[in-house]
Amino acid sequence: DYNVLAATKTRLTLNGTRDQKPQPMDIERIFGENVFSLEEMKNRLPKKVYESLVATIEKGEPLSPEIADTVALAMKEWAIEKGATHFTHWFQPLTGMTAEKHESFITPNKGGGAIAVFSGRDLIQGEPDASSFPSGGLRATFEARGYTAWDPTSPAFIMENPNGAYLAIPTAFASWTGEALDHKIPLLRSMHALDKQARRVLQLFGVKNVHKVYPTVGSEQEYFLIDEEFYYRRPDLVTCGRTLFGAKPPRGQEMEDHYFGSIPERVLAFMLEVEKELYKLGVPVKTRHNEVAPSQYEIAPLFENANLAADHQQLIMQTLKNVARRYGLVCLLHEKPFAGVNGSGKHNNWSMSTDTGMNLLDPGDNPHDNMQFLFFCAAVVRAVHKYQDLLRISVATAGNDHRLGANEAPPAIMSVFLGEQLEDIFNQLENGGVRGSKQGGLLGLGVPVLPPLPRHAGDRNRTSPFAFTGNKFEFRAVGASQSISFPNTVLNTIVADALDEMATMLEEKLKARGKRTKQAFEEAVAEVLREVIRESKPIIFNGDNYSSEWHAEAERRGLLNLPNTVEALAHLLDEKNVQLFERHGVLSRRELESRYEILLDQYTKTINIEAETAEYIARTMILPAALRYLRELTETLDEAKDLGLNVAGVRETAEEVATLINELRQRLDVLIAENQKRGETLEENARHKCYDVLPAMQAVREVADRLERVVPHEYWPMPTYREILFVK
Ligand code: ADP
Ligand code: MG
Repeated sequence: DYNVLAATKTRLTLNGTRDQKPQPMDIERIFGENVFSLEEMKNRLPKKVYESLVATIEKGEPLSPEIADTVALAMKEWAIEKGATHFTHWFQPLTGMTAEKHESFITPNKGGGAIAVFSGRDLIQGEPDASSFPSGGLRATFEARGYTAWDPTSPAFIMENPNGAYLAIPTAFASWTGEALDHKIPLLRSMHALDKQARRVLQLFGVKNVHKVYPTVGSEQEYFLIDEEFYYRRPDLVTCGRTLFGAKPPRGQEMEDHYFGSIPERVLAFMLEVEKELYKLGVPVKTRHNEVAPSQYEIAPLFENANLAADHQQLIMQTLKNVARRYGLVCLLHEKPFAGVNGSGKHNNWSMSTDTGMNLLDPGDNPHDNMQFLFFCAAVVRAVHKYQDLLRISVATAGNDHRLGANEAPPAIMSVFLGEQLEDIFNQLENGGVRGSKQGGLLGLGVPVLPPLPRHAGDRNRTSPFAFTGNKFEFRAVGASQSISFPNTVLNTIVADALDEMATMLEEKLKARGKRTKQAFEEAVAEVLREVIRESKPIIFNGDNYSSEWHAEAERRGLLNLPNTVEALAHLLDEKNVQLFERHGVLSRRELESRYEILLDQYTKTINIEAETAEYIARTMILPAALRYLRELTETLDEAKDLGLNVAGVRETAEEVATLINELRQRLDVLIAENQKRGETLEENARHKCYDVLPAMQAVREVADRLERVVPHEYWPMPTYREILFVK
């Protein structure tokens, strides 16, 4: 009854991808076409202005306000040439999405005409009066205004559509009292903290030519694509982004035939258009493939500095959603749209790079580089160990709770995978082990040069939440729908902190040794590494993270297991965490408190919306369908009896349906009652949702899914998994 395939054909024709020769994409021409790039600025700005701007972008020097007018003028001209009529400050409030308020370039003048205006002031600062964004108490109503401030380190870009275009200027969003109301400000602050500490370490290692260290991030985005016809017939998908009901289909992902399989034509057409749009925006997307679950896919960009990567990640999510609609598809970014098949995550690849192009997590090929590599690598391990809670919190959302800890995504327990060779080296370092070495030995290790470390998939451990993959770490617990800003803010900050401590340790040991010879330095480094590894070792785990033995073992090792958002968030304001963020100037206590409130509130609201939707669907769709079937059965029973037929089978079916209906009704009443209760505090409410409402929803779902297998397909009020997941 869904004429999907016919619709698909029409749509493909409409989009011009059928009956036409494929048009090769001229990537070089279109890449960055809609970005006000450095090159574009160089062409359009006076040399001095350009240089001053570059100093800001590349060296982090403060922006001189005088140049703003000149830049604004050039930017406006460029944007108007590109067809833009409006501009917006594009920012990232704590909803995790992006926000924009468009202003026209055109201002009427006295002569009754109109002129295009856009001043330096318009560029640098905006006041969106965005008082409805969550601020977690940071803004009393009398100071409700927030303002946006230009982030010159992320280039402005044009968003276009067949009917017009506008200029988007990446901005930060703060209160008038200077508190961060967004995800960008803490991210930038954390990058600054990391830069400071990493350069301090490099100085100690005698590296003098580095002016800046910045985190690099490349995050692989998983998503589902489903036909929009199914989407609109599922109130749960429309309202919650995930299905709250749905029996397991006879065929799920067990055949493992979708993963890396050939991409269905409609999906490929969609992907090509997504990539084209992203190229224009300067987003360097590189890979595409099918994922494990049916109708699940992945897109991954090349890595960039964390700020740009975070902005680009938002554009990727937005583009996926927008373009899908042009193909009669809907892109689901929820972490767990369908029970029983894999959910979607976002693998956040993270490393540190210098402005001279050195990857600090890339093992070098001489002893000195290797020492440096091991120092940075150990800092990451120490950071994850000391701040397991923060990493867990940074990915804690109602959606991700369905994913973490299920046997397809990393568990909620944080650990680090180093791989065999690196772990072996760590073990040797820990024991100060001297293995006979021809070249005299680095760090008394007997390994003057590290063995080549695996950089490719072969021995990757897919079950680890935090894995070293050759020249970067991959944080796999990030949720698919999440902004990557906060997870990276946490990563940058905790690594900055570990580097800070380890630099101090190294300085002290060097001081104690007096003379700074090569040997004294190596010994001091070896001592620091030994101490750090000894302390942080429990976090290292190379085995199967899905196994129950690991859970027991992790407990023995004293690792945290924070199974859900409520338990995770309870640690956000632990004094050690407040101190950490304050020490590095990333978030003040007040800013952190506001985030805590917002996160808890979002969690509670999400579950509340889900519970109400579940109630609505069960009551107004599923129950009536079951009743209708029951009536048909009882009528049949009466008629069959009149005819003197054997009615045993009819009776049995009617009884089965009636029993399920009774059970559904009973569980529905429990859900309704639970969802009406309200606690006194934010915490109480969140806990109640987690421990009472969610299980009540699950109980309703369980019977409803049994009914789905019994009630005739033609009566069932919603498309089923079987249809949704397998029509492409
Ligand atoms: P795989 O596909 O095997 O997981 P890739 O080499 O394709 O590994 O990288 C996956 C992601 O990691 C990509 O987004 C890539 O750009 C990113 N990445 C690679 N090197 C770095 C790095 N130094 N820092 C951050 N991200 C990186
Ligand atoms: Mg990967």
